[in-house]
Amino acid sequence: SKMTKEDVLKLADREGVKFIRLQFSDILGTVKNVAITIDQLEDALNGEIMFDGSSIDGFTRIQESDMYLRPDPDTFSLFPWRPEENGAVARLICDVYCPDGSPFVGDPRYILKKVLEEAKEMGYTMKVGPEPEFFLFEYDENSNPTTIPNDDGGYFDLSPMDQAQDTRRNIILALEKMGFEIEASHHEVAPGQHEIDFKYEDALRTADNICTFKFVTKTIASQENLHATFMPKPIAGENGSGMHVHQSLFSNGQNAFYDSDDDLYLSDIAYYYIGGLIKHARALTAITNPTINSYKRLVPGYEAPVYVAWSSSNRSALIRIPDCHGEGSRLELRNPDPSANPYLATAVMLKAGLDGIKNKIEPPAEVTEDIYCMTSSEKEEQNIKSLPGDIMEAVNLLLEDDIIKEALGNHVLNKFLQAKQAEWSTYKAEVHQWELDNYLRLY
Ligand code: GLN
Ligand code: MG
Ligand code: MG
Ligand code: MG
Repeated sequence: SKMTKEDVLKLADREGVKFIRLQFSDILGTVKNVAITIDQLEDALNGEIMFDGSSIDGFTRIQESDMYLRPDPDTFSLFPWRPEENGAVARLICDVYCPDGSPFVGDPRYILKKVLEEAKEMGYTMKVGPEPEFFLFEYDENSNPTTIPNDDGGYFDLSPMDQAQDTRRNIILALEKMGFEIEASHHEVAPGQHEIDFKYEDALRTADNICTFKFVTKTIASQENLHATFMPKPIAGENGSGMHVHQSLFSNGQNAFYDSDDDLYLSDIAYYYIGGLIKHARALTAITNPTINSYKRLVPGYEAPVYVAWSSSNRSALIRIPDCHGEGSRLELRNPDPSANPYLATAVMLKAGLDGIKNKIEPPAEVTEDIYCMTSSEKEEQNIKSLPGDIMEAVNLLLEDDIIKEALGNHVLNKFLQAKQAEWSTYKAEVHQWELDNYLRLY
């Protein structure tokens, strides 16, 4: 790590920090935290802060409920929206450890680190740049979030159509104070929908950043009386919110996806990585698109992928090759959505790509025509499969894929399955507005 414990102690002292939030993520990707005071920071940095893991959803069994948090000094940052006079507030992202000093296998950050280690043994580091989309909605008079968009702007609209530009600006200013390098931000296609892109970084840092991005966005929006949501498809008939993930591998400081001699400037490594992603796409979708609602986004007509294919030209493909070569050579996986746990999602994407490299999996031919215009027999001829249609289909595909299961490990896999089965059984028994609208009069 670049920062040492001593650096953190010095910085905390200089900034007048009074409280430190020790953060980690549960299996569903929800950020949890426990606040300590500055007097405990040194103990915390030595990994001596204990918490009861049994009350965290999908985390641990009661018997092994005492867990230890070990902060990563590189993740120290101040909350810019907290008052400075009463003592500043900072946070540290932590790894979770068992009482015997071993890493906790239910910690999503550990799951990612494990696959990153595998990549490192093969000589690679992974760079990731995400494009998270979200909606800003109004609150009702009881302060409950509605699905009323705060504006009716569209793609790249300017003010006054884009009334949220000040909110977006304040989110960006807060993120920059926390060390983010923001590359672009704009109004998205749907009313009330936005996107903020931050610079690609090492995969672990980016996964940390995605967690931070989500809670900072929610915090700043609520200060302006708006509800920010990363729910993938909050409004039927409008575009959903995706989180396209740009990814590449580096080796000895060079982009391993770049080859100046290839027609698309892609190396064999890049093609094998694509081959691996295509092979495992249907199984890893359970993790990159983990909610029931995720599958309402993955339907034709809303710029979200439906078919397993790659393309250098067609933006509706699952995998797109951005026209950018050299240091910036990369591919863009377009199915992930922002409800995914970024650690687990990155772990399974990388695992799939590494499998492609290890086993020299050739990708299918690039698809240049519009897949939505193909007949089913044309799709069958080219062996173009569909992404799973709902979370249970995705979960079943996941259960058939030993490579993706290995990336998650048994603990996370089982907790994930339990959570999804519970979600599905209540969903299945619910009577939805659609059914009332369609059946109440008819029958
Ligand atoms: N919102 C679209 C999706 O669901 C993406 C739109 C875009 O970025 N062009 O993936
Ligand atoms: Mg974009
Ligand atoms: Mg977008
Ligand atoms: Mg994109």
